[in-house]
Amino acid sequence: MKCWSRVFCVFLATIILLPVSAVFADEDVPDYRLVVNPGYQISGESYGMFETPVYNLAAGLDSLLISVDYGKSPKAVIRGYARFKYEKTGQWSHYKEFDCEFQFADLLTVSAYQMMFIIRDDSLGTNKIKRFTVQGKKVGEEIMQKILQKPLPFIASVTWPKPVIVSREGWKARPPKGEYNYHEPRKIVIHHSWAPTQAQYAGSATIRGIQNYHMDDEATGWIDIGYHFLIGPDGIIYQGRPETAVGAHCPPNTTLVGICIIGNYDPNNDLPNEQIDRSLIDLLSWLSSTYSIDPKQFYYGHRNFSPKSCPGDLLYDKLPLYREAVLKNLEQQK
Ligand SMILES: [Zn+2]
Repeated sequence: MKCWSRVFCVFLATIILLPVSAVFADEDVPDYRLVVNPGYQISGESYGMFETPVYNLAAGLDSLLISVDYGKSPKAVIRGYARFKYEKTGQWSHYKEFDCEFQFADLLTVSAYQMMFIIRDDSLGTNKIKRFTVQGKKVGEEIMQKILQKPLPFIASVTWPKPVIVSREGWKARPPKGEYNYHEPRKIVIHHSWAPTQAQYAGSATIRGIQNYHMDDEATGWIDIGYHFLIGPDGIIYQGRPETAVGAHCPPNTTLVGICIIGNYDPNNDLPNEQIDRSLIDLLSWLSSTYSIDPKQFYYGHRNFSPKSCPGDLLYDKLPLYREAVLKNLEQQK
């Protein structure tokens, strides 16, 4: 009898865990990925410095996202440093300091990189560099130039009110693993989640599932959910990372605000609906008026930068309608 009840409990636990473990999102497959558990550790010491080997790249890359998991004793300070070797000149950059996530984006490609970690801990606890994940991409000079270039500001004639957005506390987000890097939001990239689909959507639990996947899966290992905003099929908007923080959704991420619509909008799957349209137009209107982002030029689908079909034909084909609706919103109340 006891034995059976244990089996039943395991069975129940499996059912309860299933919806969360089934969640993953449709992020890019990078051109380069490295996951290392380096075993760097100090215990009972106040200082440690570790330098990784030089990692040579088979092909030049212009976007590298480095994410590190630290195992930190409460009073310790750990800093990461990364340097990059330019392909053309063979010159190394200076070491650039970061907390636990760093986005490298440059017009010039790099052929190698190296990292260093410095640990300080007066409490003499145990500290380790548990894992680092590096995801690289060749964005290409033309697109990179477009992304890094500071555009002429779009002057909206009204300040569009901020729509109701479920805060991170509201959906019970985990705190980020460390400090964000900040950027100026200049362009908007629309994504779909692909999976979860609309039928798999379960409100805040779905958003937490995507966050867990982005933070815990070793292929990503990011410091937080990758997107800045997510919109459910019910039209509810959730805050991901602050939009002023560099995200992890579309390399090179810098200056790009990522909005993920939950659902699969490839043909013959989910359909965009009125609630999604209304919330997205509201959010876009607020972002454009707050950050001077021109709807005519700077609303993109993820596919504009990636071989993926994201955000699916059905959403992508609506981009002109969204642009028009935002322009109407922002000009109406002159
Ligand atoms: Zn996408």
